Amino acid sequence: MKIVFATGNKHKLQEAREIFTGVEVISILDFDKNFDPDEYGKTFLENAVIKAEAARAATGGLPVLSDDSGLVVPALEGAPGIHSARWGGVNGDHARNRAKLRTDIRKIADRSAHFLCTAVLICAAGNALVATGRVDGTLIDEERGGGGFGYDPMFIADGCDRTLAEMSSDEKNALSHRGRAFRKMEEMLRCLALIG
Ligand code: IMP
Repeated sequence: MKIVFATGNKHKLQEAREIFTGVEVISILDFDKNFDPDEYGKTFLENAVIKAEAARAATGGLPVLSDDSGLVVPALEGAPGIHSARWGGVNGDHARNRAKLRTDIRKIADRSAHFLCTAVLICAAGNALVATGRVDGTLIDEERGGGGFGYDPMFIADGCDRTLAEMSSDEKNALSHRGRAFRKMEEMLRCLALIG
């Protein structure tokens, strides 16, 4: 089965290709090189649906997958949450986002946080599947490691002693919010006999 992934984020695309085993993941940028729909939703689910529907329109009805994800810090009232990608003021500028988060967390004692991922898949027939994933951990106010992307250098998952950016991609995918959501999605596709 071929699925078009509705993201312009090359790191997410690479992770999706590593996580799915029975699905060929194609980039939406192959259909629309400027794909960047306005994410006006108020929840991860709303934004994931917006991206999936925009991709479906751009691909003429092929199966499409979207992922809306972000970092939630309860002591910051859930921020950056759905604003994770532009927390520092510039969409997709991960270094600026981390710099802002470092300043934010210096003011809080409880640095527990979690990543959330909501994945939506719209099948060729138009019916949709939804899967979510979460990983809990703690933030540090420095950056460690050169792997991953986004807030990975500042996030240590529960039970680990390295940041997500210090792990191999296999280690990160095994415990990440995206790994969990996409594996659930693949399991649903298998149960529905859409993949072998
Ligand atoms: P989206 O592309 O609108 O879903 O925004 C996702 C944003 O959340 C990214 O730009 C990152 O700031 C953050 N994020 C999501 N997943 C991860 C991850 O796996 N590691 C680090 N940051 C992430």
